[in-house]
Amino acid sequence: MFRALVLEKEGDAAVARLRELDESALPPGDVTVAVEYSTLNYKDGLALSPNGGGIVRSWPHVAGIDFAGTVEASDDPRYRPGDRVVLTGWRVGEAHWGGYAQKARVRADWLVPLPEGLTTRQAMAVGTAGFTAMLAVMALEEHGLTPDKGEVLVTGAAGGVGSVAVAILARLGYRVAAVTGRPETEGYLKGLGAARIVAREELAETVKRPLESETWAGCVDAVGGAMLARVLGQMKHGASVAAVGLAGGAALPASVIPFLLRGVNLLGIDSVPVPYERRVRAWGRIVTDLPMEKLEAMVRPAVLADLPALGAAILKGGVQGRVVVDVN
Ligand code: NDP
Repeated sequence: MFRALVLEKEGDAAVARLRELDESALPPGDVTVAVEYSTLNYKDGLALSPNGGGIVRSWPHVAGIDFAGTVEASDDPRYRPGDRVVLTGWRVGEAHWGGYAQKARVRADWLVPLPEGLTTRQAMAVGTAGFTAMLAVMALEEHGLTPDKGEVLVTGAAGGVGSVAVAILARLGYRVAAVTGRPETEGYLKGLGAARIVAREELAETVKRPLESETWAGCVDAVGGAMLARVLGQMKHGASVAAVGLAGGAALPASVIPFLLRGVNLLGIDSVPVPYERRVRAWGRIVTDLPMEKLEAMVRPAVLADLPALGAAILKGGVQGRVVVDVN
């Protein structure tokens, strides 16, 4: 038997309950993992919401889009009992049962060996949010970003993606400007390595002039919406924005002028179906480029029973840094 936070439909709403399940409840898959830690991402907040946030389609369901743990049984030659693994993406926690349980069963293709130098707890302090932040930084680098090009903007900076992006960029020698709507997080963000804080209101107004002064050499954007539209008009010539999230809205009320007159690039980041080699490379970069003491400063510990309340909080922008869920 093992414990899981199961979302069950009651009338129109899904309700989360801690249940004892046996292994016959697990979905098909070739690797069974004893989960040690999971985490909370914005998408988990959606999955935990009463209607499943449009990403959960069938109930009962176990949410949790990522987990780290130890292989218990494997039908795949790549994994053996005792191997430590991490999983992000592949619609686990959405279409497939996820990490909010003491056991998970998944396809071997979705797993990555836990990188040397990282504990399962640290891997979940990173989680999908931090993995995505790393992918965003890699995409910016691949499009020519180097520290000498100027200041790099991170939006939604006190959230999960933002916090990890700030810490990685600062470690790599970038001067980081962190956008936050929570002035009280200034000390936290400067502790992660932000050189300065930009108030959310400064970028909240919709685009009035398609081009403003050339300010940012790069941007990791977790907010989208009107803020992303404004930021596009403030990018330096040839600079790139990595579009990661929509915490501020999915609409993009923007002008094409920054693309045409400044050669600005808008790079889409999708962390879900990343090919294996790039996944391994990103985790390797996390080990070398994310200072572990900075990661620890982002962590808020939690247990399965805390998740319904934390899920509601993350959808309101009320979670700072990274929640790490000890499922045991
Ligand atoms: P968090 O809630 O931890 O962070 C989001 C942050 O955005 C908040 O902390 C807040 O930062 C800011 N924010 C919230 N609401 C608003 C608003 N209305 N206007 C402006 N800023 C706002 O979530 P995550 O970091 O886990 O995820 C961030 C986004 O990235 C989400 O939209 C998520 O879906 C997306 N995402 C996408 C992935 C991909 O593969 N593309 C993978 C992972 C996440 P502050 O308080 O500092 O202002």
